[in-house]
Amino acid sequence: MKKYIVVIDPGHGGSDPGAVGPTGLKESHIAFKIACMVAEILMRYGIENIFTRVGDTRVSLDERVKIANKSKADFFVSIHINSAGNPLATGTETYAYKQGVEGDRLAHSIQNNLVQAIGLADRGVKYNSLQVVRETKIPTCLVEVGFINNPAEEQLFKNDEFSEKAAIGISKGILEHIGIDYMQKEDKSMDTPQWKKEGIEYLAENKLMSDPEGWIKKIEEPMPVWAIATLFMNLHKDLKGDK
Ligand SMILES: [Zn+2]
Repeated sequence: MKKYIVVIDPGHGGSDPGAVGPTGLKESHIAFKIACMVAEILMRYGIENIFTRVGDTRVSLDERVKIANKSKADFFVSIHINSAGNPLATGTETYAYKQGVEGDRLAHSIQNNLVQAIGLADRGVKYNSLQVVRETKIPTCLVEVGFINNPAEEQLFKNDEFSEKAAIGISKGILEHIGIDYMQKEDKSMDTPQWKKEGIEYLAENKLMSDPEGWIKKIEEPMPVWAIATLFMNLHKDLKGDK
């Protein structure tokens, strides 16, 4: 199977925060957070990621283009958060260089999946001669997830769950474009396995364990040493018959 490589380009960074929301949220920070989440998802499919910046650093557009063109990557996906003079500006849009190229198809795939994932207005795929889109030699697009200057959307971006949804949407778009089915991360089942439940109930009934409800809820967590010690102490007392 072909090994895919994606250059992920979190917009702005360092002394260039990009757009700043009404309460001070920085585009550069949100773009980086979403970029990291995208990388984490793509890695689950064996897709390699190259970042144009590591952490909160300033990287010029020339440098970003150079990284893309020197890489042997298949795609370049730039992640930004939009801003406009109008505080009511809303929605998601994706930029491609021109119609009909592979970057355009990638942009459509990302745009559709992202809109579906986060539910903001669909502003569609647009064409623009943005430097990173124009000068990269690999199929490229630039995503504007939402408007950080819109107070309601800025609030959304403060929520990690919303960023995660955006990352899933972008990742789904990339995966769909290369023909890989997105699969939900295996939900850590919240159901307590029957044998563990019975065991805890048995210990609680025999007064060998306090707070069985709590332990049933924390079933995924290993028991701390003090809990095991208490368990043994109670068991020991019980065996000696002096409870
Ligand atoms: Zn930007």
